[in-house]
Amino acid sequence: MDVPRHAVIVMPDHDPAQARKGLRDIHQIDLARGLACANSPTGTAVIMNDLRAHCSPSRQKVIEQAARNLAARAATPCPECRQPGWGRIDWLTGRTCAGCGGDVPFLVRGTLDGCQGCGATVETPTQTAPVSPAQCPACNP
Ligand SMILES: [Zn+2]
Ligand SMILES: [Zn+2]
Repeated sequence: MDVPRHAVIVMPDHDPAQARKGLRDIHQIDLARGLACANSPTGTAVIMNDLRAHCSPSRQKVIEQAARNLAARAATPCPECRQPGWGRIDWLTGRTCAGCGGDVPFLVRGTLDGCQGCGATVETPTQTAPVSPAQCPACNP
């Protein structure tokens, strides 16, 4: 559970109302485990990772990246109207089968960037090569 870098929650079996949260010290965790077992109808305790952001460095990294992405987007003006917030609004999908030449839906073909203000969009194909017949719903149903 990567203690003490990550914190844990300790509670009696099936009783989150008695949960002790944010525990990182092994002695505190052991004490909480003993109390939880004593207060549990089954005599058992549940110990789980505390995934609240301030207790989880793993989540903090993901949240930091999301904040950076948001800041970068807020700093990017629309190429048409100059309103801030230009960025990815969807994925382009649909590729061609190398075997039968038919459409292969749902596979990513590229990105669609756009403006929330004026509705301008720019398609950027990133993967245009035909795909293996193994991925084709007609060739490989
Ligand atoms: Zn095909
Ligand atoms: Zn715009």
